[in-house]
Amino acid sequence: MASRIIPVDPFDLVIFGGTGDLARRKILPGLYRRFLDEQITEDSRIIGAARSTMDDAAYREVVRASIRDHIPAAKQAADAVDRFVNIVGYVALDARGTDGWDALAKLMRKSVVRAFYLSVAPTLFAEIATRLHRHRITDKHSRIVIEKPFGRDRASARKLNAEMATHFKEDQIYRIDHYLGKETVQNLMAVRFANILFEPLWNAQYVDHVQITVAETVGVEGRGSYYDTSGAMRDMVQNHLMQLLCLIAMEPPYKFDPDAVRDEKLKVIRALDPVAPDDIVRGQYLGTGQADSYLDHTGRTESLTESFVALKASLSSWRWKGTPFYLRTGKRLRARASEIAVTFKEPPHSIFEQEEGWRANVLVIRLQPDEGINLKVMIKEPGPGGMRLTEVPLDMSFAEALGEEGTDIPDAYERLIMDVIRGNQTLFMRGDEVEAAWAWTDPIIGEWEARGESPKPYDAGSSGPEDALMLMHRDGRRWREIR
Ligand code: NAP
Repeated sequence: MASRIIPVDPFDLVIFGGTGDLARRKILPGLYRRFLDEQITEDSRIIGAARSTMDDAAYREVVRASIRDHIPAAKQAADAVDRFVNIVGYVALDARGTDGWDALAKLMRKSVVRAFYLSVAPTLFAEIATRLHRHRITDKHSRIVIEKPFGRDRASARKLNAEMATHFKEDQIYRIDHYLGKETVQNLMAVRFANILFEPLWNAQYVDHVQITVAETVGVEGRGSYYDTSGAMRDMVQNHLMQLLCLIAMEPPYKFDPDAVRDEKLKVIRALDPVAPDDIVRGQYLGTGQADSYLDHTGRTESLTESFVALKASLSSWRWKGTPFYLRTGKRLRARASEIAVTFKEPPHSIFEQEEGWRANVLVIRLQPDEGINLKVMIKEPGPGGMRLTEVPLDMSFAEALGEEGTDIPDAYERLIMDVIRGNQTLFMRGDEVEAAWAWTDPIIGEWEARGESPKPYDAGSSGPEDALMLMHRDGRRWREIR
């Protein structure tokens, strides 16, 4: 199955923070892959910008190294890499200074799309936006891309939105949540809105509960001191997990249009009920054997910050009243796994005599690893043993279903950057969505801070604290195994 790759219009893309970790690991390799697939043509330009003094040639070496480190060897043909680095340049500038900005202004071409990727600390966003404006580097068609965190509470998010709005209209601002760029996340919308099959069942009458899990095996490691000011609720739940919840719970938009989709997501966030303190468990990982603990990673002797959260959310809407959404995310867990599982109710009456082995239908949307969709259904156990039922998976692994393409799925970042160039905001968070998400998480975090309670300890390599298991057990349900 060959996918159609339509080249994007020529562009000038400036990457502020072009020498940083995110640029080297994700943005530059992603752009190279789009260039290899001829989605980016040679009349586009990529300009790195940071304080380090270097010329174009030296920056091209940075880009070559990032390709060497993050692209499979088979895709590193010398000729392709040479052609790619030829469209790359560099400007040395300080986001807080005056030097370098006029040089950048001179590089900008009038006839092409201009995009500015702010891959720098959020404290520099407003400084850069102001200077782009002051030096007349942007025009009314320019796009600006910003990375999370979008504030650390509603007030700071509102301030950031206001600062960006001083120089850019909302339809020029692209807030990246890379979870929304994942193939399976987009497929979630295709499964829901391109098939009639699920929609009649997609409500509290037929869905028993939904589980959303984003589990990581890594700890906070080198990011310890930053992470300790944030925690899992701010770092993961307020953005990634809530976005996934929105895509599961939203009403069908009237069309696949940026504002139509984001309006529906916003309605979901606004319909979320406040979370009772008993419906949340926070955890912090311990060290085991050779592995460091959270406190080792942050260099502190005590910390009230959580590296794990599990919570039960509910929605006050006609569609979902009565169906709980269980959300769980954490670091140093048993396996790296992100999935959404929609568990349906059992049939109202069984015509079969078998009493054991019944399982409810479960639709599992697996985001990583092994992206795919799996529906667990009951069938007759094969053989002459009478009418015995057993559960089997209807499995659609993208790697198998789509052949080579399924194993070569573009990374979320490269897909989203192409959307920026195309001017499509559907998969980017709107300012009001971000503020509404904080309005839901702020009271939860405020309550923790007021109580000053320590997170529950959990062993590295486990499924999180015992209390998180209890959160579901007491409702007569259980978490899916993290694997
Ligand atoms: P990083 O490795 O620390 O890189 C920061 C970049 O900003 C460097 O290129 C640095 O180069 C440049 N810079 C710093 N101060 C500057 C200034 N005053 N003027 C101009 N350039 C300046 O950070 P990162 O990990 O790439 O993260 C960048 C942003 O993405 C942050 O907002 C982060 O929260 C977000 N993010 C990162 C990741 C990730 O996986 N890394 C994931 C999600 C979000 P010079 O020192 O040469 O100026």
